[in-house]
Amino acid sequence: MRRSLSKCEFLNKEAINKLYLKEDKLPRDIKYIFHTEPALDSKCNLKWYNEQWVNQFIKMSIDISRHMGLPPTMIEIHPGKKPNTYQYIAESAIKLFNNFKDEFEVKPIILIENRTDHVISNGIQMKEFWDYLIKDYPLYQKYIGFVVDFRTMYTQVSHDYFNNVNNHFIDNIELIPAESIKGCHIHNSHPKAPTIRDAIPWLSVFNKIISVNNDMILNPEVLSLRVALETKKFCVDMIRERRKSQSNSTIG
Ligand SMILES: [Zn+2]
Repeated sequence: MRRSLSKCEFLNKEAINKLYLKEDKLPRDIKYIFHTEPALDSKCNLKWYNEQWVNQFIKMSIDISRHMGLPPTMIEIHPGKKPNTYQYIAESAIKLFNNFKDEFEVKPIILIENRTDHVISNGIQMKEFWDYLIKDYPLYQKYIGFVVDFRTMYTQVSHDYFNNVNNHFIDNIELIPAESIKGCHIHNSHPKAPTIRDAIPWLSVFNKIISVNNDMILNPEVLSLRVALETKKFCVDMIRERRKSQSNSTIG
Protein backbone atom coordinates (compact mmCIF):
# COMPACT_ATOMS: atom_id res chain seq x y z
CA MET A 1 0.00 0.00 0.00
CA ARG A 2 1.24 3.49 -0.82
CA ARG A 3 2.04 5.79 2.07
CA SER A 4 -0.01 8.97 2.15
CA LEU A 5 1.61 12.28 3.07
CA SER A 6 1.14 13.57 6.57
CA LYS A 7 0.33 17.16 7.51
CA CYS A 8 3.22 19.65 7.05
CA GLU A 9 5.09 17.30 4.71
CA PHE A 10 6.41 18.50 1.37
CA LEU A 11 4.61 17.32 -1.74
CA ASN A 12 6.46 14.66 -3.69
CA LYS A 13 6.09 14.18 -7.46
CA GLU A 14 3.36 11.59 -7.01
CA ALA A 15 1.29 13.97 -4.87
CA ILE A 16 1.85 16.82 -7.34
CA ASN A 17 0.60 14.61 -10.18
CA LYS A 18 -2.47 13.78 -8.18
CA LEU A 19 -3.26 17.32 -7.05
CA TYR A 20 -2.60 19.13 -10.32
CA LEU A 21 -4.05 17.46 -13.39
CA LYS A 22 -2.18 17.69 -16.69
CA GLU A 23 -5.10 19.71 -18.12
CA ASP A 24 -4.22 22.34 -15.52
CA LYS A 25 -1.07 23.20 -17.50
CA LEU A 26 -0.87 26.91 -17.88
CA PRO A 27 -0.96 28.97 -21.08
CA ARG A 28 2.63 30.01 -21.97
CA ASP A 29 2.04 33.72 -21.45
CA ILE A 30 0.40 33.60 -18.04
CA LYS A 31 2.11 35.11 -14.97
CA TYR A 32 1.44 33.43 -11.67
CA ILE A 33 2.52 33.45 -8.02
CA PHE A 34 3.51 30.61 -5.71
CA HIS A 35 2.43 30.64 -2.08
CA THR A 36 3.20 27.06 -1.27
CA GLU A 37 5.10 26.54 1.95
CA PRO A 38 3.47 24.15 4.41
CA ALA A 39 2.43 26.68 7.07
CA LEU A 40 -1.33 26.37 6.98
CA ASP A 41 -1.47 24.62 10.30
CA SER A 42 0.02 26.13 13.47
CA LYS A 43 2.05 22.94 13.98
CA CYS A 44 3.69 23.21 10.56
CA ASN A 45 6.72 25.29 11.41
CA LEU A 46 8.80 26.96 8.75
CA LYS A 47 12.45 26.02 9.12
CA TRP A 48 14.57 28.46 7.16
CA TYR A 49 17.35 27.65 9.67
CA ASN A 50 17.40 24.03 8.55
CA GLU A 51 19.35 23.48 5.33
CA GLN A 52 17.72 20.15 4.53
CA TRP A 53 14.23 21.61 4.99
CA VAL A 54 15.10 24.58 2.74
CA ASN A 55 16.42 22.21 0.05
CA GLN A 56 13.22 20.16 0.23
CA PHE A 57 11.11 23.30 -0.09
CA ILE A 58 13.09 24.42 -3.14
CA LYS A 59 12.85 20.97 -4.71
CA MET A 60 9.07 20.91 -4.23
CA SER A 61 8.74 24.39 -5.75
CA ILE A 62 10.80 23.34 -8.77
CA ASP A 63 8.83 20.09 -9.15
CA ILE A 64 5.52 21.97 -9.15
CA SER A 65 6.86 24.50 -11.68
CA ARG A 66 8.06 21.72 -13.99
CA HIS A 67 4.71 19.98 -13.70
CA MET A 68 2.92 23.25 -14.56
CA GLY A 69 5.14 23.71 -17.60
CA LEU A 70 6.48 27.15 -16.64
CA PRO A 71 7.92 28.81 -13.55
CA PRO A 72 6.13 31.43 -11.41
CA THR A 73 6.96 35.13 -11.76
CA MET A 74 6.91 35.61 -8.01
CA ILE A 75 7.25 33.33 -4.99
CA GLU A 76 5.73 34.38 -1.67
CA ILE A 77 7.10 32.98 1.57
CA HIS A 78 6.48 33.62 5.26
CA PRO A 79 9.21 34.43 7.81
CA GLY A 80 8.39 31.71 10.36
CA LYS A 81 8.93 31.86 14.10
CA LYS A 82 12.15 31.66 16.15
CA PRO A 83 14.80 30.24 15.74
CA ASN A 84 14.39 31.72 12.23
CA THR A 85 16.41 34.92 11.87
CA TYR A 86 16.74 37.67 9.25
CA GLN A 87 19.91 35.98 8.05
CA TYR A 88 18.33 32.53 7.61
CA ILE A 89 15.33 34.05 5.83
CA ALA A 90 17.44 36.22 3.52
CA GLU A 91 19.84 33.41 2.66
CA SER A 92 16.97 30.99 1.99
CA ALA A 93 15.27 33.54 -0.27
CA ILE A 94 18.55 34.02 -2.15
CA LYS A 95 19.00 30.26 -2.51
CA LEU A 96 15.44 29.89 -3.80
CA PHE A 97 16.06 32.69 -6.31
CA ASN A 98 19.34 31.20 -7.52
CA ASN A 99 17.89 27.71 -7.91
CA PHE A 100 15.07 29.03 -10.10
CA LYS A 101 17.57 31.08 -12.08
CA ASP A 102 19.74 28.02 -12.74
CA GLU A 103 16.84 25.66 -13.39
CA PHE A 104 14.58 27.80 -15.61
CA GLU A 105 16.77 30.77 -16.57
CA VAL A 106 14.27 33.16 -14.98
CA LYS A 107 14.57 35.67 -12.17
CA PRO A 108 11.54 35.29 -9.94
CA ILE A 109 10.85 37.97 -7.33
CA ILE A 110 10.92 36.42 -3.86
CA LEU A 111 8.39 38.12 -1.60
CA ILE A 112 8.37 37.80 2.17
CA GLU A 113 5.00 38.33 3.78
CA ASN A 114 4.69 39.69 7.32
CA ARG A 115 2.74 37.36 9.57
CA THR A 116 1.37 37.67 13.11
CA ASP A 117 3.77 36.20 15.72
CA HIS A 118 6.46 35.45 13.11
CA VAL A 119 9.92 37.03 13.31
CA ILE A 120 8.80 39.63 10.74
CA SER A 121 5.38 40.83 11.85
CA ASN A 122 5.60 44.62 12.20
CA GLY A 123 7.13 47.68 10.57
CA ILE A 124 10.19 47.80 12.83
CA GLN A 125 11.14 44.24 11.89
CA MET A 126 10.54 44.93 8.20
CA LYS A 127 12.90 47.89 8.38
CA GLU A 128 15.51 45.83 10.28
CA PHE A 129 15.32 42.98 7.76
CA TRP A 130 15.64 45.37 4.83
CA ASP A 131 18.63 47.17 6.42
CA TYR A 132 20.29 43.77 6.88
CA LEU A 133 19.59 42.67 3.30
CA ILE A 134 20.86 45.83 1.61
CA LYS A 135 23.98 45.85 3.79
CA ASP A 136 24.96 42.19 3.41
CA TYR A 137 23.34 41.25 0.09
CA PRO A 138 22.86 44.51 -1.88
CA LEU A 139 22.83 42.68 -5.25
CA TYR A 140 19.58 40.96 -4.31
CA GLN A 141 17.52 43.99 -3.33
CA LYS A 142 16.05 43.99 -6.85
CA TYR A 143 14.76 40.42 -6.50
CA ILE A 144 13.80 40.16 -2.84
CA GLY A 145 11.25 42.30 -1.03
CA PHE A 146 8.06 42.36 0.94
CA VAL A 147 4.49 41.62 0.12
CA VAL A 148 2.82 43.60 2.89
CA ASP A 149 -0.30 42.15 4.42
CA PHE A 150 -1.83 45.25 6.02
CA ARG A 151 -4.67 43.38 7.74
CA THR A 152 -2.18 41.01 9.39
CA MET A 153 -0.05 43.93 10.54
CA TYR A 154 -3.14 45.62 11.94
CA THR A 155 -3.92 42.45 13.92
CA GLN A 156 -0.33 42.33 15.23
CA VAL A 157 -0.44 46.00 16.29
CA SER A 158 -3.79 45.51 18.03
CA HIS A 159 -2.23 42.62 20.01
CA ASP A 160 0.74 44.81 20.95
CA TYR A 161 -1.17 47.96 22.00
CA PHE A 162 -4.48 48.41 23.76
CA ASN A 163 -4.91 52.10 22.93
CA ASN A 164 -4.46 54.22 19.84
CA VAL A 165 -4.18 51.14 17.63
CA ASN A 166 -4.65 53.17 14.45
CA ASN A 167 -1.85 55.61 15.36
CA HIS A 168 0.53 52.76 16.16
CA PHE A 169 -0.47 51.00 12.94
CA ILE A 170 0.26 54.15 10.92
CA ASP A 171 3.66 54.49 12.66
CA ASN A 172 4.40 50.89 11.68
CA ILE A 173 3.54 51.30 8.02
CA GLU A 174 5.62 54.47 7.88
CA LEU A 175 8.62 52.43 9.08
CA ILE A 176 8.46 49.99 6.14
CA PRO A 177 11.04 51.19 3.59
CA ALA A 178 9.10 52.08 0.41
CA GLU A 179 11.80 50.47 -1.77
CA SER A 180 11.33 47.12 0.01
CA ILE A 181 7.65 46.88 -0.98
CA LYS A 182 7.07 44.77 -4.08
CA GLY A 183 3.53 43.64 -3.33
CA CYS A 184 0.54 44.07 -1.04
CA HIS A 185 -2.18 41.74 0.12
CA ILE A 186 -5.44 43.63 0.30
CA HIS A 187 -8.24 42.27 2.42
CA ASN A 188 -10.14 42.97 5.60
CA SER A 189 -12.15 39.85 6.19
CA HIS A 190 -11.46 37.14 3.59
CA PRO A 191 -15.08 36.60 2.45
CA LYS A 192 -15.92 40.32 1.91
CA ALA A 193 -14.36 43.15 -0.05
CA PRO A 194 -12.71 45.94 1.99
CA THR A 195 -14.54 49.23 2.44
CA ILE A 196 -13.59 52.64 3.75
CA ARG A 197 -15.68 51.87 6.88
CA ASP A 198 -13.30 49.06 8.01
CA ALA A 199 -11.28 49.56 11.20
CA ILE A 200 -8.04 49.57 9.15
CA PRO A 201 -7.18 53.17 8.14
CA TRP A 202 -7.16 52.44 4.41
CA LEU A 203 -6.43 56.09 3.54
CA SER A 204 -3.04 55.78 5.28
CA VAL A 205 -2.46 52.37 3.69
CA PHE A 206 -3.01 53.76 0.20
CA ASN A 207 -0.89 56.85 0.95
CA LYS A 208 1.90 54.35 1.58
CA ILE A 209 1.08 52.36 -1.56
CA ILE A 210 1.24 55.43 -3.81
CA SER A 211 4.62 56.38 -2.31
CA VAL A 212 6.18 53.17 -3.69
CA ASN A 213 8.10 53.51 -6.96
CA ASN A 214 8.79 49.78 -7.54
CA ASP A 215 6.71 47.66 -9.85
CA MET A 216 4.43 45.82 -7.49
CA ILE A 217 1.45 43.53 -7.28
CA LEU A 218 -1.76 44.19 -5.39
CA ASN A 219 -3.15 40.83 -4.46
CA PRO A 220 -6.82 40.72 -3.40
CA GLU A 221 -6.62 38.07 -0.69
CA VAL A 222 -10.27 37.04 -0.83
CA LEU A 223 -12.13 33.85 -1.52
CA SER A 224 -14.14 34.34 -4.71
CA LEU A 225 -13.74 35.96 -8.12
CA ARG A 226 -16.65 38.31 -7.43
CA VAL A 227 -15.06 39.63 -4.22
CA ALA A 228 -11.65 39.78 -5.94
CA LEU A 229 -13.13 42.08 -8.59
CA GLU A 230 -14.81 44.23 -5.91
CA THR A 231 -11.46 44.43 -4.08
CA LYS A 232 -9.71 45.42 -7.31
CA LYS A 233 -12.23 48.22 -7.81
CA PHE A 234 -11.68 49.35 -4.20
CA CYS A 235 -7.91 49.54 -4.85
CA VAL A 236 -8.27 51.42 -8.15
CA ASP A 237 -10.67 53.93 -6.55
CA MET A 238 -8.46 54.42 -3.49
CA ILE A 239 -5.29 54.95 -5.56
CA ARG A 240 -7.06 57.44 -7.81
CA GLU A 241 -8.50 59.31 -4.82
CA ARG A 242 -5.18 59.40 -2.90
CA ARG A 243 -3.24 60.65 -5.94
CA LYS A 244 -5.81 63.36 -6.47
CA SER A 245 -5.77 64.45 -2.83
CA GLN A 246 -1.95 64.48 -2.87
CA SER A 247 -1.73 66.62 -6.01
CA ASN A 248 -4.37 69.00 -4.58
CA SER A 249 -2.35 69.40 -1.39
CA THR A 250 0.81 70.04 -3.43
CA ILE A 251 -0.93 72.74 -5.47
CA GLY A 252 -2.57 74.23 -2.37
ZN1 LIG B 1 -1.68 37.67 3.15
